[in-house]
Amino acid sequence: MARYRVEVDLLLCQGHGVCKEECPGVFEVEDQGTGYSKVRVLQEYPAPSLNEELEAAETYCPNRTIRLIAVDTTD
Ligand code: SF4
Repeated sequence: MARYRVEVDLLLCQGHGVCKEECPGVFEVEDQGTGYSKVRVLQEYPAPSLNEELEAAETYCPNRTIRLIAVDTTD
């Protein structure tokens, strides 16, 4: 099964938290010490069992902050 590497663009993130609702095992939203909340990726290479949740987070993030990159898992 395909596996994703998770990238986020913190410049685009506005801390809505939709990502955390869709996939709490991978995304956290927290104050970065600036008074603004931003996403934090808990796992850069999540297990394939989380793919559906990851895809929902990517789709529903209002700012299109999340990018999923399919990686080779044939090793
Ligand atoms: S849903 Fe998108 S904009 Fe909102 S916290 Fe998550 S990554 Fe950032």
